[in-house]
Amino acid sequence: MGVRGVLMGGIEAVGDAVTGGLLARAVEPKAGEADGYTHEKSCLNCGTKLTGPYCSACGQRAHIHRSVRAFFQDFLIALFNVEGKIWRTLPMLAWKPGEMTRRYIAGERARFISPVALYLFTVFAMFAILNFNGALGAPGQARNVKVGLDSAITEQQQELGRLEMKRGIEAAAGRDVAELDKEIAGQKAAISTTQNLATGNSVASPDVNRKVPGLLRPFIRHVKDNPQLVSMKVQDAASKFSWLLIPISVPFMWLLFPFRRKYNTYDHTVFVTYSLSFMMMLVVFGGIFVAVGMTSLASLLFFVPPFHMYRHLKGAYELGRFSAVMRTMALVTFAFIAVGLFAAATVAIGAS
Ligand SMILES: [Zn+2]
Repeated sequence: MGVRGVLMGGIEAVGDAVTGGLLARAVEPKAGEADGYTHEKSCLNCGTKLTGPYCSACGQRAHIHRSVRAFFQDFLIALFNVEGKIWRTLPMLAWKPGEMTRRYIAGERARFISPVALYLFTVFAMFAILNFNGALGAPGQARNVKVGLDSAITEQQQELGRLEMKRGIEAAAGRDVAELDKEIAGQKAAISTTQNLATGNSVASPDVNRKVPGLLRPFIRHVKDNPQLVSMKVQDAASKFSWLLIPISVPFMWLLFPFRRKYNTYDHTVFVTYSLSFMMMLVVFGGIFVAVGMTSLASLLFFVPPFHMYRHLKGAYELGRFSAVMRTMALVTFAFIAVGLFAAATVAIGAS
């Protein structure tokens, strides 16, 4: 509680000073009807007869105010409600994910941030940090690659020119040019490879096209012609359809616990959603480490997911060590399949 207590106390004091002080007094009317509803006998929201400070049917406060002070109080309550939950949820999600998931499923719903809220928050944070780092392909990147390849082609062509001039001189002098011819042929091949890269032909060269099913050919041509637009649309689809990962993952949990009637689909959904949220949080932290130049620390995060899955499974489903290890290995495999399915779906949605 220490730091947070002090912080909250401080902010609350500031809030009180603001709401109870100058601002409130300056804007609030003197008294009476205009500043609120404080003598109601039934709930203003749903009409139920009031028996205490809160409505017994819908939970709204009995007395509400129409003042700037009330507005600020609502703001602070909303802030600290969520903030309190964040500080309770995040450490437990990291160190005791199984216990938290079990307790949430068992009924302690108000104590922790709900899986869906946490999921939406982490999706937002993940795309924010990935965009900040340019990991999703800033528009400039593709252009930089193109410029780099174009200058490489120019250099290669200059070298080819030098070789051909040399060959001319040698041939005129009546010397053997077989070696030079080989070099020239090699240089020409190198230039055509680079040209293919620069124009994107390597993606769909006639050779590759023959192996690609006819249905996919227009799709590949579309990606090739509009790489930046497609990248943006896929990104857009990935964030819009991020919820898809949850229904994709739940059936794998059925496979993981085929005979455990004790746990139902709701339990699996909570587990999956908290787990995915944690994994996305790892991406967020990795992104922050990369942004501040701690790349090696970021790469260490790759080893975290299996350990987290193990602890999460073991705690949430009350498994023994062996059973948890076996299921973790299966879950790691399923996770790759689920992410692959999700990627295929978002590329199909985004690039079409
Ligand atoms: Zn009510």
